Amino acid sequence: LKADENEDEEDEDELIGALLVLRDITREVEADRMKNEFIGTMSHELRTPMTAIKGFTQLLAMGGLGQLNDTQREFVNTIYSNTERMINLINDVLEITKIESGSIDLEWRSLHLAEALSGVIAELQPQIAQRQHQLTISIPPGLPLIRADSMRLHQILYHVLLNAIKYTPPGGNITIAARETLNVDLPEPVRSTLSDSRRYLMLSISDTGVGIKPEDLPRIFDRFFRTDNPLKVEAGGTGLGLSIVKPLVELLGGRIWVESTVGEGSTFFIALPVAHDRA
Ligand code: ADP
Repeated sequence: LKADENEDEEDEDELIGALLVLRDITREVEADRMKNEFIGTMSHELRTPMTAIKGFTQLLAMGGLGQLNDTQREFVNTIYSNTERMINLINDVLEITKIESGSIDLEWRSLHLAEALSGVIAELQPQIAQRQHQLTISIPPGLPLIRADSMRLHQILYHVLLNAIKYTPPGGNITIAARETLNVDLPEPVRSTLSDSRRYLMLSISDTGVGIKPEDLPRIFDRFFRTDNPLKVEAGGTGLGLSIVKPLVELLGGRIWVESTVGEGSTFFIALPVAHDRA
């Protein structure tokens, strides 16, 4: 609020007060909480029957109720893979409601990034072998430990590496590298969103896959967003994975970003805070 207190000097710019607008958002917060609770309950309720369908379909597919002819086996396999897709989707939705309602409990530990990575690589080895990808790992010995939650870290690494496999044609290369870095060495705008003098481990997962168009890059972490690319159908997916990965990385005090060229490949970078960093 401005007023002309001293009329002689005609000082119209003098500040004599401020306006504070308060809005009661109790109802909006409550509505959000109820929405999350509803989706959470629904997802749980859906998961139970879906799990039963999956179990019985598996039994049928394995010939537990008698041998199937080729057509029957094909149909049963289709039911099985669609049931699996639906269960994955339900699990992703449950995860999102947990993140949104802030009900994720983290178990903080000092962890070796290399150990976490080797668990994920072992789990994804069958897919890597099936697509005949060349996997190169370049992690120097003696890297400092990171402070993270091991289950969440696994989830993050698993998802980004699985994407590299899915969106890289057979015979392509996937390279995983890590190094220690200071915040000042990180690129903008990532750097300015992190505390100034901390040390980070920067992990990169690069592939020689389909790549991402520049106009799609800003939307890559959005919910349900999937780019049009030659491997879209074959890769399958819900477009929810990266929208879960990003808030998880941020919960761990880190950042994730991507650089990519269509037809050449993509690199996902993940910076995670080093343990026992006093800065
Ligand atoms: P999806 O379930 O579709 O894989 P994500 O949320 O994991 O969902 O990823 C969103 C989209 O980002 C993908 O559909 C794909 O278009 C693109 N994407 C993610 N990782 C890569 C990658 N390594 N190479 C090319 N495109 C990628």
